[in-house]
Amino acid sequence: MGTVLVLNSGSSSLKYQLIQPDTGESLAHGIVERIGDDGGVPDHEAALRLAFERLTADGGDLDGLGLVAVGHRVVHGGQRLYRPTLVDDAVLDQLRDLSPLAPLHNPPALLGIEVARRVLPDLPHVAVFDTAFFHDLPAAAATYAIDRELAARWQIRRYGFHGTSHQFVSRQAAEFLGAAPESLNQIVLHLGNGASASAIAGGRPVDTSMGLTPMEGLVMGTRSGDIDPGVISYLSRTAGMGVEDIESMLNRRSGMSGLAGEIDFRVVHQRIESGDQNAQLAYDVYIHRLRKYIGAYLAILGHTDVLTFTAGVGENDAQVRRDALTGLAPLGIELDEHLNESPARGARLISAESSPTTVLVIPTNEELAIARECLSVL
Ligand code: ADP
Repeated sequence: MGTVLVLNSGSSSLKYQLIQPDTGESLAHGIVERIGDDGGVPDHEAALRLAFERLTADGGDLDGLGLVAVGHRVVHGGQRLYRPTLVDDAVLDQLRDLSPLAPLHNPPALLGIEVARRVLPDLPHVAVFDTAFFHDLPAAAATYAIDRELAARWQIRRYGFHGTSHQFVSRQAAEFLGAAPESLNQIVLHLGNGASASAIAGGRPVDTSMGLTPMEGLVMGTRSGDIDPGVISYLSRTAGMGVEDIESMLNRRSGMSGLAGEIDFRVVHQRIESGDQNAQLAYDVYIHRLRKYIGAYLAILGHTDVLTFTAGVGENDAQVRRDALTGLAPLGIELDEHLNESPARGARLISAESSPTTVLVIPTNEELAIARECLSVL
């Protein structure tokens, strides 16, 4: 069985990982940062070549890596692209057309694909979309209550993101419980720098917190999550800010960064310990929003069999998990304090034996999920 190279191209970084999809073994991984920056590599092509140099550092050549495909993470697939898709020139054109929907994320991914196809022309390149898992959200969850014709004309709907992670983690949760995914209602909380929640009924997502873009929903590292859209027009009229300024503020200078000046939860906790009021408020807003979504998703699902935390904060921050679920026993969710505090790393159960809802921590592995999706189209 061959290996798959998974690439995640951002505007200034390229993450790569070489994976054996059947065993799930990661053979090598790394990140090239500061693309186009002083002291970094000049462009994406140089970044990819540097990644290859590192992958073959022991003197081997690319052939020795046993590559059968290259998987590309693409954030936005729009309405039409959602299955893992073998990239050809026509698909690249379609991706180009989608750039306005995800101006921060899709153009660098597109560039990564173009460069990788040039460097590895003989391999199949597969695009895997962050929106895919949520493609069939029920219309009631996918639709914004705005002018219907305008929305249709400009493809405005709730797409949802982090789908690869929500799908992977919800399947892992089912496996952990020895149950079929179709038999379970689940809530998945993907809490990393980006953060999103999903409600899954019998294996099918029925709601998720991100929308047209990855800005909606939970409080994130640098993104605001939900705000009154009136804030945008208000800032435009009164503060004289242009739409780009406002978007950049909501994407890069909001969330934990905007409120506390810090996105790393380890540091946020330290600041709170030392009496920093801004850090405390940021944390409180973060937890408040998270609890609101848990409550909403419980109401949408009626009941949930399992609730799973994943990603950097979800996997590592016991205090966030505790504060998110405190007092929810009447809703069927009881944490086991001791299990929750355990420094274990793998997939694990953290709910009390008496808890009707099973609470899990499951490490996400988007690269492995992408590698497996790639093979499904070959
Ligand atoms: P991304 O969305 O960039 O993939 P991750 O899922 O890796 O992010 O999450 C990164 C975040 O996880 C960090 O900014 C930090 O807030 C949080 N984090 C990582 N390790 C810990 C830890 N041990 N305790 C608390 N938070 C952590």
